[in-house]
Amino acid sequence: MVIQVISAAPLTDDERAKIEKRFSVKHPGQKPVFSYSVDQSLLGGLLVIDGDDFYDASLKRQMTRLVSGEAQTERVQPTPAQQAQRQAVLDKLTEQMRIEPLRPDIGKLMRRLDERIDTFKPDYTGSHAGRVCYSGDGVIRIEGLKDAEYDELLDVEGVKAIAFNLEEDNVGAIVLDDEDKVQAGAIVHSTGRIVEVPVGEALLGRVVNPLGVPIDGLGEVHTDRVRPIEAAAPAIADRGKVNTPLQTGIMAIDAMIPIGRGQRELIIGDRQTGKSSIAIDTILNQKGKGVYCVYVAIGQKSSTVSGLVHTLGEYGALDYTVVVCSTARDSAPMQYIAPYAGCAIAEEFMYAGRDVLIVYDDLSKHAVAYRAMSLLLKRPPGREAYPGDIFYLHSRLLERAAKLSDALGGGSMTALPIVETLAGDISAYVPTNIISITDGQIYLESELFNAGIRPAVNVGLSVSRVGSSAQIKGMRKVSGKLRLDLSQYRELQVFTQFGSDLDAETKRMLDQGARATETLKQPLHASYAVEQQIILLYLINKELLGRVPTDRIGAFNKGFLEYLEVNGSELYGRICANGDVSMEDGIALEELVDAYYAYFFKK
Ligand code: ATP
Ligand code: MG
Repeated sequence: MVIQVISAAPLTDDERAKIEKRFSVKHPGQKPVFSYSVDQSLLGGLLVIDGDDFYDASLKRQMTRLVSGEAQTERVQPTPAQQAQRQAVLDKLTEQMRIEPLRPDIGKLMRRLDERIDTFKPDYTGSHAGRVCYSGDGVIRIEGLKDAEYDELLDVEGVKAIAFNLEEDNVGAIVLDDEDKVQAGAIVHSTGRIVEVPVGEALLGRVVNPLGVPIDGLGEVHTDRVRPIEAAAPAIADRGKVNTPLQTGIMAIDAMIPIGRGQRELIIGDRQTGKSSIAIDTILNQKGKGVYCVYVAIGQKSSTVSGLVHTLGEYGALDYTVVVCSTARDSAPMQYIAPYAGCAIAEEFMYAGRDVLIVYDDLSKHAVAYRAMSLLLKRPPGREAYPGDIFYLHSRLLERAAKLSDALGGGSMTALPIVETLAGDISAYVPTNIISITDGQIYLESELFNAGIRPAVNVGLSVSRVGSSAQIKGMRKVSGKLRLDLSQYRELQVFTQFGSDLDAETKRMLDQGARATETLKQPLHASYAVEQQIILLYLINKELLGRVPTDRIGAFNKGFLEYLEVNGSELYGRICANGDVSMEDGIALEELVDAYYAYFFKK
């Protein structure tokens, strides 16, 4: 047991004896060793460190408390009268120091120490304060902050931080904004809250950073509602069945990998395979459908995000969209909280009974930001150097997407997380984790993309585990055969690669597959309404496109839809109303295709 005594001036034997006597009483039966040292920076008085207890009776502390400590803790500015009074006390102290700077009135200080020891009671309530003892790379360590909770918002002299590592003798925290403003020695207060973002309809059409601060130059966001960025996911009993489709407007997805409102569907693929494009087209397609959208950009280039905002504006999609943006130059902590902040904004709409679509672009960069933070906080690295709780990082985020029960208003949050793979490796650590949490995945392939099959959806590896129950009847009828055609086509393609001698049936299947593949090609921002998709798939299923050259299928389909709108508006209206092609409508449709053939080849 060593008790350290640090004083501003060397202590006399008498003084030492007094101190030793006083502190030995605290440790009956033990023989504490006293270690004495001198630190002139205390100005006057002394400091005793007794195990975990800390008795600071130095002049320096009194002065700091007076000039900075108290002022820091106060939310309100002191009045001029208070300030004057403080200045007077300070002047007096300074004067005393000048007369006898290093000779404290030991008797008085000892009496005060006695008082403190007798009345010492640990305080487990209220706001405690600590001091920053290390700051670097957006991570700080804090000493003396005893009551911090995990995930709690900390106030570092006006800068926000989140408590992350609660250790025996210090707290590791991540700094959210202005990390360079934090200095060693800064005072930290716990707040008892967790980070909140402003929420509500006022955010629609805005671009905000992960703390909800607008970065689009359009002024303040006028809302008085806030939500914590971390929240519990809806309980099992609070959830309803996924039964309404969320139309992406992309035929390959709506027909074969349908997404229901409240579902979590992963978009996965290598770099530059059109992942973001699918998410953006889905947002564009929500126009007029009453679905609010939240797009969360994580660690992306500023130019990419600005291009995206421009596209959304151009197609009139900003009116119902919120963009939460953390760019590549933002600190790892800001990138880390971005998806949770976006989720809180979406939750507000969901609990108000609305349908929301949220896109996380992308969670690979999120995992990397989290890894950087964890390593700086000296958490032990695991597989691929990710920390042990990397699974929980994404599961607690994606579990918050849900379809709520009618009792809770029936709102929904559909999540489209995006994950980037390296060389198509979907069995890497983060991709497999997220695949196991989501309700299916849309797998995009570079090979298909480069072969001009765009969107480059690999139909074989993509699945939707809950969406088919949300598909409308007409779509369900036509999509079954399409899946079969395409899978036969894929198999035959492999078999017939080297053979030239094909029988008629094989040729027919190959032809049918090639035409189906052509039909599913879709340029950017050219979404199809679900009825249009049903009609086009009806044509391909009934093999009505046999006479069109394969490379002109796209043009034929586009032209036919326009032709139908003019020359078969009644029929089109009926198909829209029923959401299905009935027997008679089918016959009428076939006649119309015949009529269009003549027109198409004349062009
Ligand atoms: P990154 O890995 O950089 O995030 P990404 O996978 O998100 O890329 P996108 O940015 O969506 O890919 O698309 C890459 C490029 O492919 C873009 O230039 C886009 O215009 C083009 N592209 C995407 N989808 C289509 C499509 N259906 N038709 C034509 N071009 C497309
Ligand atoms: Mg992208």
